[in-house]
Amino acid sequence: MEIQKQSKQQQQEEFALASVTELASSSTSLSRSDSHSAPVIARFSAGNGVAVLRFNRDSESTDSISVDVKTAQLSKLGPLQSVCIAEASGADTGKEKYSTGVTVQFRNEEESRAFHCAFEQWKKKDIVQGTLLPNGAVTSFKSKFEDKIEPSSAKMYFHYYGQLLHQQNMMQDYVRTGTYYAAVMENRVDFIDRVVVDVGAGSGILSLFAAQAGAKHVYAVEASEMAEYARKLIAGNPSLGERITVIKGKVEEVELPEKADILISEPMGTLLVNERMLESYVIARDRFLVPNGKMFPAVGRIHMAPFSDEYLFVEIANKALFWQQHKYFGVDLTPLYGSAFGGYFSQPVVDAFDPRLLVAPTISHDLDFTEIKEEDLYEIEIPLKFVASVGTRVHGLACWFDVLFNGSTVQRWLTTAPGAPTTHWYQLRCVLSQPLYVMAGQEITGQLRMVAHNAQSYTIYLTLSAKMWGPGAEQGGILQTSSCKLDLKEPYYRMSQPQAYAMAQDQQPHQPIHTQMI
Ligand code: SAH
Repeated sequence: MEIQKQSKQQQQEEFALASVTELASSSTSLSRSDSHSAPVIARFSAGNGVAVLRFNRDSESTDSISVDVKTAQLSKLGPLQSVCIAEASGADTGKEKYSTGVTVQFRNEEESRAFHCAFEQWKKKDIVQGTLLPNGAVTSFKSKFEDKIEPSSAKMYFHYYGQLLHQQNMMQDYVRTGTYYAAVMENRVDFIDRVVVDVGAGSGILSLFAAQAGAKHVYAVEASEMAEYARKLIAGNPSLGERITVIKGKVEEVELPEKADILISEPMGTLLVNERMLESYVIARDRFLVPNGKMFPAVGRIHMAPFSDEYLFVEIANKALFWQQHKYFGVDLTPLYGSAFGGYFSQPVVDAFDPRLLVAPTISHDLDFTEIKEEDLYEIEIPLKFVASVGTRVHGLACWFDVLFNGSTVQRWLTTAPGAPTTHWYQLRCVLSQPLYVMAGQEITGQLRMVAHNAQSYTIYLTLSAKMWGPGAEQGGILQTSSCKLDLKEPYYRMSQPQAYAMAQDQQPHQPIHTQMI
């Protein structure tokens, strides 16, 4: 995986405040006068290695007060009020220089604590990690996220999740949201009077569930612009919202004032691992969770089985037929036929299929979120061994996943299996351009290898083999092997419904829609 050497991306962390007033006679005052006005935002950012704290009317506003965190002091005037004083800066000579002072009003004590904690951390980060390069430029510190992920990928990703329609799509997956709700409510004991961190809070819905279950306090960490909407939603549910603090930033970068007893998150992408958010979940565990704290969910299980689907195979192969034309407006397209054929078979297929297409009992591979190391998610190798139940042509490997809420009262699985109520993840199939022929009872072996890439997804390498039937089989036989390489970031969505993250990037019109075919 390619690693970015230096990032120009700014890191940032945001807090919503009740009001901010500049300490001067004709002072600037930023406050939220009514519930409809935008909140005052305090934003720490680390552009070019210098930590700046900016108070804005909202994220976009130019009406702002800035202080240099390095020289600034933050003191408490009361439980909900603090004062921030920064020494005068600037190079103009001769002129008298004045300090900047602001009083900050918080909405509750948790938010005050979280802000003070972040302030101290940002002060330290700047001093410890801002290093001077020989050319005089200052590098800003980089988080694990920025080390691994291409900035353009991250930008698109968080832009996607910053839109309400995509959060709505997930919320309207009632299998998903309902299972989370049930798992939280049935396991109230795990939440009552506990500190919770919602990892990638989105709209804040899981934070609100945790608060409903009696959490003492919930820190809702969300990196996209959705954090603003989460604040609005949470403010509109005051009986729960008073126990929730939204922190805008990446879980790899933000600081929290206290450790969590339990993490809640919905970090699953297509085939569980797409989006590489499981890594953020594991980083959040290591940064915020008390030893032996709980994780909701705690385990992910990938299921796999070979399938036979002649119709799907022909559909994919036929897509490339366009390139077999010899006289397309007088042009021979056939030189690109092979590339087009290979291209279509490098797309994993996402749809809901009939489980009767499976031709062998499934096998599974567990990822224990409470134990796994972040690095273990960079490359996942799963050995495959099946016994065919029928004689058939095997067209590839079908995959799906479950996650487990390992509650103290009830253990509950969220499943995305074929035949179970469909979720917005559907199922995923890797289709081989060279199908295998098997007889009932025959062994199918191989490997599924998934290698993470810096565009928040994985390259999938699949190999399936079966011993040839017929003469020589008793002596060990000849192995027929078929392999394929697929990009999990570029799936072929065969569905008409709104999709999980990966599809939205593909703005091209899709192939004619096929409903379930069996
Ligand atoms: N918890 C919400 C949203 C789940 S979608 C729900 O269940 O409905 C995942 C969310 O995590 C997105 O909103 C995305 O922006 C956020 N996210 C992904 N990676 C993140 C990271 N590293 N730090 C903070 N937020 C992240």
